[in-house]
Amino acid sequence: MNYDLMYQSCNLCPRNCNVDRSVVTGYCGCLNTIKAARAALHHWEEPCISGTKGSGTVFFTGCTLRCCFCQNHSISQEGLGKEVSIKELSQIFLRLQDQGAHNINLVTATQYLPSILPALDLVKGKLSIPVVYNCGGYETLHTVKALEGYVDIWLPDLKYESSELSMRYSGAKDYFQVAKKAIKQMILQTGSPQFDSQGSIMKKGVIIRHMVLPGAKDDSIRLLHFMKEELPEGMYYISLMSQYTPFFHSKDFQEINRRITTYEYNKVLDEAIRLGLDSGFMQEKSSAKEEYTPHFDLEGIL
Ligand code: SF4
Repeated sequence: MNYDLMYQSCNLCPRNCNVDRSVVTGYCGCLNTIKAARAALHHWEEPCISGTKGSGTVFFTGCTLRCCFCQNHSISQEGLGKEVSIKELSQIFLRLQDQGAHNINLVTATQYLPSILPALDLVKGKLSIPVVYNCGGYETLHTVKALEGYVDIWLPDLKYESSELSMRYSGAKDYFQVAKKAIKQMILQTGSPQFDSQGSIMKKGVIIRHMVLPGAKDDSIRLLHFMKEELPEGMYYISLMSQYTPFFHSKDFQEINRRITTYEYNKVLDEAIRLGLDSGFMQEKSSAKEEYTPHFDLEGIL
């Protein structure tokens, strides 16, 4: 398949920029050459992803969402990263596997899908660890389906139910409508969560991440009700995150220029438990530290 055609009139994400990425960038800020800022073992994902040896995480430059509070803004919105060829990317995957990674974790990769697919083709038969697709949840069905057979574990965010919030903080009024369809498709593709023989490392499945935002606990609770009512029981995990810390442009939005309170997080957590949504992970409130943000020093890329 000529993957390059997918770059020619780019509709890889719901922004539908329709631009020729060999010449100009779209909303994501990326041309048609992969750029990445870090490829290393990462220990701060959910325990079933990081395990004891770490997740083989590749952080890609650019983003289709560009949230105002992004903790990775230097790579997602400010272009930090180095160009790597498709072949080099495939070698990075194998190197991470050799280093003992439990999986290959592709962080914000959609804008490079036409390069990711051939890179994964190159390691077919050599990569024996699962591939994790770590994304903002703002994915077209077309992109999710294109990754069937390549991705073993989906790690999507589900950020907002309110279109007002998604517009305000991520410039995406249709976020929830898009993300809910994408997540349903991810669950269809992976089936129920599967683990290794010790039951500790995930091999297949979907983990839906939700980070509670300051002043938005009611929106979080609406998302929990959506999950309870519309997603198939027992077919996904939830990761309820309390780590929100004001970053980047948070200061421009007074209501989110603070950490969340214990009260806010506990209200969301209590509702999850009340609804029986207790398959998953919660964070200690004290874990809202910058150590979750790795240092983007091009480790593993140079
Ligand atoms: S991947 Fe980038 S250029 Fe393509 S549609 Fe999305 S934002 Fe636009």
